[in-house]
Amino acid sequence: MPEVVLTADCTLMSDYGGSMFVGFAACAPRLLPDPLFRLFLCPPLPHRKGVALFAPAGTRKIEAVLLEEGFDVVVGHPEHLEEVVDERTRAVGITTNDPLGLGPASSTLSSLTGEETYSAFHFRKLVGRRILRRAGLRVIVGGPGAWQLAEGRMMAKYGIDCVVLGEGETVASELFRRAIRGEPLPPIVEAGPTPPEKIPAIKNPTVNGIVEVARGCGRGCKFCVPTQRYLRSLPLEKIREEVRVNAAAHHLLIHAEDVLRYGARGILPEEEKVMALFREVAKTGMDVSASHAAFASVASAPSLVQKLTELLGIGTRQKPFFGVQMGIETGSPSLIEKYMKGKALPFKPEEWPEVVMRAHEILADQNWVPCSTLVMGLPGETREDVEKTRELVERLAEFKSLIVPLFFVPLSFLREEKFFTAKDMRGEHWKLYASCLRHDFRWIGALARDHFKDSRMRRMAMRLLLGVMRRRLEPHLKLMEEGESPLRGGSSASPPRL
Ligand code: SF4
Repeated sequence: MPEVVLTADCTLMSDYGGSMFVGFAACAPRLLPDPLFRLFLCPPLPHRKGVALFAPAGTRKIEAVLLEEGFDVVVGHPEHLEEVVDERTRAVGITTNDPLGLGPASSTLSSLTGEETYSAFHFRKLVGRRILRRAGLRVIVGGPGAWQLAEGRMMAKYGIDCVVLGEGETVASELFRRAIRGEPLPPIVEAGPTPPEKIPAIKNPTVNGIVEVARGCGRGCKFCVPTQRYLRSLPLEKIREEVRVNAAAHHLLIHAEDVLRYGARGILPEEEKVMALFREVAKTGMDVSASHAAFASVASAPSLVQKLTELLGIGTRQKPFFGVQMGIETGSPSLIEKYMKGKALPFKPEEWPEVVMRAHEILADQNWVPCSTLVMGLPGETREDVEKTRELVERLAEFKSLIVPLFFVPLSFLREEKFFTAKDMRGEHWKLYASCLRHDFRWIGALARDHFKDSRMRRMAMRLLLGVMRRRLEPHLKLMEEGESPLRGGSSASPPRL
């Protein structure tokens, strides 16, 4: 058995039927019994003798670093760890996105029912496994949600020896080496951005064929984690290698904070570089999707969106739409000016609502479907700010899209501020939340039908889940539209706790 085993909880070890949109279900409260959630929405990925055949991209990067340094390491399937972990195993590394359900999507989605999210439930299940509690086995946790655990009590509760915040490539080998030698580990390690030449190419396939093409974004929003501040595009040779490794995935998900700015030296997209990247991946003949894009990039380079649509065959029976995650965040130019000026560039903060509208028109013409986030409760937000955001959401009604309102989570430059919770919601927030839910219910059925066009079972499961959610939420929605809190006594949901 290997000395180091890397793993992640079940919600990260699923391809959600090939859809990152469905992956949002991990942040939902547990309204469907877990066996149904696992069967229809979050099916487990295959393994061979406990070794996961696909793993999250972040886990694969750490695996690549450790393999290059000569470690004896495998990625273990969370439900079959006993097949890869034994007395010889000295350290387990866990990747996590949202271990306590405190992430913006989870804390918002669970606010209406107060129930635990699937992500928190499965993380708890994983770290609670007896096989990970063996004396002498060191547990190191990293990943985008690791910040939720960086606190002594929580680490003791979950049996965690070390939490890594930030990008792990530059610190992983030193930490695992110490763990293997039985040397003390620092409880919390803050790792900075990894220089592009130190980001290794993965050695084994990722979930959904994720290929990371760039890190960071450079737009500098004040609530964004530090590693997003610098845009680092990876060279095409490295991307080619990762595409080749992912041939078994039969699908490629191109990941960057803004795929339209791959290779950009400034704020404007450089069309030729982006086209060269997508030509490279399209020639594999595999289905290609993209993770994130920015509205300002769409509005400043409409011809790029059109060229990508033609290249990838978007709008055909095989690929009816192209889903991509994007950030609206607010409809208020003054909040843009205060916290995220760079998000609007090359446009001015006061042009933001029109940038968002114009980008939606461009995307709709090309059958691109944005799944957008909003942030509620930014420090100093006024009633007018929230009203402006709601106005923008209402104007977007005609565009096939999803809009997910998120609670403000204090990170980065704003980490001294306080969490925004269901208790802080005022009438205008409930109205905004209701507008987003109405918008989503308007479009999600059609999107699910298109997305699961080849799987009757998944279409039925989605219909079932949506039906349950609609029925549970309808009375809440009516109250919210009146500006009333739907929570018993003002708030029955527990606010996020650290
Ligand atoms: S645009 Fe998105 S990724 Fe870029 S800094 Fe802002 S929040 Fe972060």
